[in-house]
Amino acid sequence: MTNSTRCACGSIQNYTECCQLFHDGTHFPITAEALMRSRYSAYVLQNSDYLLATWHKTTRPIQLDFSEDNTTWQKLEILHTKKGGAKDDKGRVEFNAYMLDGETRLTMHEISRFKKIAGRWFYVDGVLN
Ligand SMILES: [Zn+2]
Repeated sequence: MTNSTRCACGSIQNYTECCQLFHDGTHFPITAEALMRSRYSAYVLQNSDYLLATWHKTTRPIQLDFSEDNTTWQKLEILHTKKGGAKDDKGRVEFNAYMLDGETRLTMHEISRFKKIAGRWFYVDGVLN
């Protein structure tokens, strides 16, 4: 992904005007959905620092290792959001993430939970179904 490329999160903006602002730490997502999108594009970019920094401390893994990862993320589709707005401190985002694992097409359907602490959103956990 180069600077003039559309952001992988599915917005119609360039990366530099979209999730890069969050990945750089110059801006923080205002909504749970924006955090969700920025985490998806961080997965696309294998930006483990950002993923860990936006993971709630109670559920955060010690590290993320992408060295053996064969996933090619193709598309994020937000299906539904519940709360997670600028004035909320909790939110849920239901989404489909489309990916290739090697040659195999997979769809990940998840409802993710988010919490806001001191004005910043964090990913808590997700239910796959
Ligand atoms: Zn984006």
